[in-house]
Amino acid sequence: MANESIQQNQVQMQKCPFCGELIDSSVQKCKYCGEWLNKPQKDFKTTALLCFFLGWLGIHRFYTGYIGIGIVQILTFGGFCGIWPTIDMYSIALGNYKDRNNKPLKEYNKTLSIVLSIIITIALVFNLHNFFDGWNNTGTNKTNATSQQQSSTNQIKTAKQDLEVIEHHPCTGDFGSRMVCGTIVNNTNRTKGYAQVEINLYDASGNLVDSTLDNINNLEPNGKWKFKAPIMDDSVTNYKIKDVTGF
Ligand SMILES: [Zn+2]
Repeated sequence: MANESIQQNQVQMQKCPFCGELIDSSVQKCKYCGEWLNKPQKDFKTTALLCFFLGWLGIHRFYTGYIGIGIVQILTFGGFCGIWPTIDMYSIALGNYKDRNNKPLKEYNKTLSIVLSIIITIALVFNLHNFFDGWNNTGTNKTNATSQQQSSTNQIKTAKQDLEVIEHHPCTGDFGSRMVCGTIVNNTNRTKGYAQVEINLYDASGNLVDSTLDNINNLEPNGKWKFKAPIMDDSVTNYKIKDVTGF
């Protein structure tokens, strides 16, 4: 009993982890630098999930005490395309991440680490792939500003159609004949040896009364084709683009 009370009365000294001054280890706050000591460890799962879902806002940084870094991460949307929270995520998953008080996170969970690492690695590879894809396309087309512009709009649409009608309207031919005119773009990176547009023609009652077409050879990659399809039937009041094909 006597021994115990003596030990309790001894003043234990420790080095402040922030400024290095010797301080009483029982105090909550360093009197030299003002930092709080012996804060409870931050939770691993919470930090990992915050980083995973809200890392681009730096929320995991706020949670673990890094207010300044958290603000910078918000302002940069995760710092250069989310690279920062990605690095933090790996650090957390490997168990290397420490909070502002230089303490490791408590209750490390290996399964969660592996799952999140795999997901974030797939996302990273996918993003890098897209990034370099975009980079290559810009490089190929840099000689021609309009084709570059065209290519970026096409990238969104290519998945849908190789040959795409970008506009169409009724028009008049050289000899006053009625026609359907429009523009078709080749969204592929290969020349279309042959391309054809088929148009259905309707009368005022909505009945199909005729059809027409136009075709062309050697439509270049990203090239635009101004088509003109004649309307021979006088009863035609409406038309519908039925199909665009090519090879
Ligand atoms: Zn201190």
